[in-house]
Formats: sequence, C-alpha cells, structure tokens
Amino acid sequence: MGLSSAILHLFYKFKLLLLFTLCMMVVAWVTSSYLVDNIQETSKVKILEESFMKAAMLEKENQQTMEVPTVKSTMSHCPALSPYLQGSSKLKFKASLTLEEVLKENSQVAKGRHRPAECLALQRVAILIPHRNREKHLLYLMEHLHPFLQRQQLDYGVYVIHQAGNTKFNRAKLLNVGYLEALKEENWDCFIFHDVDLVPENDFNMYMCDKQPKHLVVGRNNTGYRLRYQGYFGGVTALTRDQFSKVNGFSNNYWGWGGEDDDLRIRVELQKMKVMRPSLDVARYTMIFHTRDRGNEENRERMKLLRQVSQMWKTDGLNSCSYKLLSVEHNPLYTNITVDFNISPKIS
Ligand code: BGC
Repeated sequence: MGLSSAILHLFYKFKLLLLFTLCMMVVAWVTSSYLVDNIQETSKVKILEESFMKAAMLEKENQQTMEVPTVKSTMSHCPALSPYLQGSSKLKFKASLTLEEVLKENSQVAKGRHRPAECLALQRVAILIPHRNREKHLLYLMEHLHPFLQRQQLDYGVYVIHQAGNTKFNRAKLLNVGYLEALKEENWDCFIFHDVDLVPENDFNMYMCDKQPKHLVVGRNNTGYRLRYQGYFGGVTALTRDQFSKVNGFSNNYWGWGGEDDDLRIRVELQKMKVMRPSLDVARYTMIFHTRDRGNEENRERMKLLRQVSQMWKTDGLNSCSYKLLSVEHNPLYTNITVDFNISPKIS
C-alpha cells in the first residue's frame, strides 16, 4: 500500500468515527430530552395528584363545615361520664322533711320524669319502687334520688308500685307489674329495681344497664359496707328490658320477706348471664332504719321455692303475672301504680 492510500484509509476511518460520534450525540440528545420530558411529566402527575388530594381534603373540610349546622341542630349524645358527678356524699335525713320542700327542690321534674336539656341521654331508665306504708322512706328517697339521677344525665322515669289491701306483701310481683305497666308508657331501655329504704351514697354508682345484669348494692351502712354473701342480688338491681324478659321477670310466688331476689339470680344464671357489680367504693347505700312491716313476715317457704326455679321459671313470671290494676296516677315526683293481688294469702 502506498502512502497516499494509507492516508486515504485513515481519513475514511476518521469520517466513520465522526459519523458514529455524531449518531451517538443525536441518540443521547433524544434520550435525554425524552427522559427530561418524562421526569417533568412525572412531577406534573405528582403535582396534579397533590392538588387533587388537597382539593379532596378541602372538599371534605368544606363538607364538614357544611355539616356543622346539621350536627348542631340534632343534639349529640351525653358523655359516658357526666361532668356533674360529685362522688361520695354524707346523706342527711331531716325528721321534719315535708313533701312541699321536696317538690320545691325538684320543680323541674314532671310526672316523675326528667331528661337532660343539653344532650341526648345514653339510656332511658325506669326506676321501679315497690311500696306499702313507707311514706317517709319514699320522701327521703325522692329527695335524694332525683338530683342524683339528674347529675348522671339520664332520661328517667320513677314508678312507685303500691300494693293495695292487707294481703301479704309481694315485692317481686309488684316489680313485674312495674315493668309491664311502665312499658305501656315508654319503651324503656333499662330497669332499676329499687327498694324504698335504700339511698345511694355515691353518684358514680351509675343507674344504667350493662351487658350483664348488674347488682348495685355492694355495701350498706347496716352491714358494715360488706357484701352480705356472694350470691346476694337484693336491694337495687339493674337489668335491660331484654335481660329481664329473657328470664321471664321475677317469680310471682314469693309472699312475705325474702327469697325473690335469690330466685332472680338463679334465673339469670340459668340463662348463662353473669351478675356484675360496681366497685365497693362507689356501690354504697344508706339503709333507712325500720322494723319488720306487718304483712311482710319472713317467708319460710322460700328455700323450697328456690329449689324449684329451674322447673318453674318458664311458666311463673312476667307471662303469668295477673293483677287488678286499681289506678295509675301521675304525681309530680313519680307515677303511682296501685294494684290489688286479691289471690294472695291473707296476713295472719
Ligand atoms: C333472703 C334474701 C335477702 C337476703 C339478705 C336472704 O336470706 O333470701 O331475700 O335479700 O337474705 O337480707
């Protein structure tokens, strides 16, 4: 090969290299601009996404702001724990207390009913009090119970079920009557079965029903604030409408003092429910002293009856509670239901 042809060959190679470099530069430029475009596109999508999110959030906020008037117009629920609770209080029972004084202190209660003005109560609660010849005890209970229930922000109604005549007292049957009659007025969620002589000392002892039947008297002054016995279910208990109907209410067969509360506990256990109790420091009561009433002598048959609960509960209870309704009066502090159990044994 001569010198000139070698130079020509070199020049040709150089041209090829130049062309290749140029091609590479074009490819690089196209790719880079594509990439830049793509990156720009991605960030554009991101920005759009962000603004969409922002808009969505704004819309949500707007919607919420727009919803405010509707929320305000329908009342919200009361809190689980009322802000008005005071805790333990030393109860006083003034010998000279009059109905006029109690009425004056409770002018906001009408027909035994009250509900909070500021919020929607969590439960509608009926308080059922069996009664005969205990007017002063009833007055003391009304004096303390109305402010107590209002501090708990409940929608409540008080019913006193009065046994007429001089037949033996039947606490359980009176409470069955109270349940049946109170439900004719209002679809109560919860029932408090309440002795007339027990006054709650601490308003943290909530008069509301729970997932299980509740026993509210853990301690009382006359027992040194100790539970009487493990199965004790007397004095004050709280059962929902359904819990009480599930056990067919109380038995109607306990005439005189004792046993009917133990019978109810057995019914509860037969239905696989479990009695629950608030803590001892809040579930405290003062029992107003009294001697045994005439017509409420100890029921000596009660142990025999208690052995038969599992055979009897289905046919003896709410579904077999017969009574003669004498009157339903709406007093300012309570609804007074008077019944006659003309089938009961006479007082001996
Ligand atoms: C009675 C219950 C009573 C309890 C506590 C039991 O012997 O059967 O009715 O509540 O004593 O006084």
